[in-house]
Amino acid sequence: MGRAQRPYYVPVGNEEQVFTAAFRQGLPVVLKGPTGCGKTRFVQAMAYDLDRPLVTVACHDDLTTADLVGRFLLRGGETEWVDGPLTRAVREGAICYLDEVVEARQDTTVVLHPLADHRRQLPIDRLGLTVDAAPGFCLVVSYNPGYQSVLKDLKDSTRQRLVAIELGFPPPDVEEKIVAHEAGVDPDTAAGLVTLGQAIRRLETPGLREVASTRVLITAGRLVSEGLAPRAAARAAVAGPLTDDPVVTAGLVQMIDAYL
Ligand code: ADP
Repeated sequence: MGRAQRPYYVPVGNEEQVFTAAFRQGLPVVLKGPTGCGKTRFVQAMAYDLDRPLVTVACHDDLTTADLVGRFLLRGGETEWVDGPLTRAVREGAICYLDEVVEARQDTTVVLHPLADHRRQLPIDRLGLTVDAAPGFCLVVSYNPGYQSVLKDLKDSTRQRLVAIELGFPPPDVEEKIVAHEAGVDPDTAAGLVTLGQAIRRLETPGLREVASTRVLITAGRLVSEGLAPRAAARAAVAGPLTDDPVVTAGLVQMIDAYL
C-alpha cells in the first residue's frame, strides 16, 4: 500500500526547516499563532514528511494529567491500565501535538517538564514507573500569544529548550492560493475573500482580528463553491461568527459589500 498524500501545506517562511532541525535534535517545539492560521495543518504535514505517527490532543480546561497519561479502567470486572495519548506517543515515538496547551490545567506541566527537558522521560506515578521517550518522539505544543499560558509555569531551563515557531496569517498571495485550493474556488473569488480578511484584520475592534482567520475565509469559499454569491457567503461565514454586536455587524456588511 502506498503512503497517503502529503497534507496540503504551503510554507510561509522557514518553519519546515526549523521544525525538522528541532525534531532531529529531540527538542520540543512551541507553535505560536492565532486560531485558524494553519498550526494543525503544519504539524500534519511535518509528521508526514518525517514519517512519524501523529497524536493530537485538543486541550481544554478540564484536561487532567490522567487524560494525558492514562488511567485504570474497569474492564470485565478487572481493572486494567489504559495509556493516555501522551503515553502512547512517548512509547511509539510519535509526534505529540498538544493543541491550545494554554487551556490545560496547570498540574499537567508536572508531566510535561521531564519530557520537554533533556531527560525526555514521562513519569507515570500511578504505575510507579518512568518511560523513556522512544526515538522519534517529539512534543509539540501550540498556543495563542496573549492568553494566560501554562508555559509561563515551566522552569526557565525547560523554556530555554523550547524551539519557538511563529505562524501568523499567511501573506495575501499565499493565503489566496490556500483559499482557492481548500475551498475549490477560482483565484478571483479567493483574492476577494483574502482582501476582505486582510481589511478586517486591520480593524482595531478588539477580538475581530483573530477571528477573520484563514479558516473562516475557506469556509466562506466553500459556500461560494456551492453556488452562494460571495457577499452572502461572507455574511454567513465571516461576519456572522465574528460578532453579535449589531453596530459591528453593520460595519462588516459594509466592508463585505465594498470588497466583494
Ligand atoms: P490552527 O490549528 O492554527 O487553528 P488549522 O491548521 O486548522 O489552524 O488551519 C485552518 C485551515 O486553514 C486548515 O484546515 C487549512 O485548510 C488552512 N491553512 C492555513 N494555513 C495553511 C497553509 N500554510 N497551507 C495550507 N493550508 C493552510
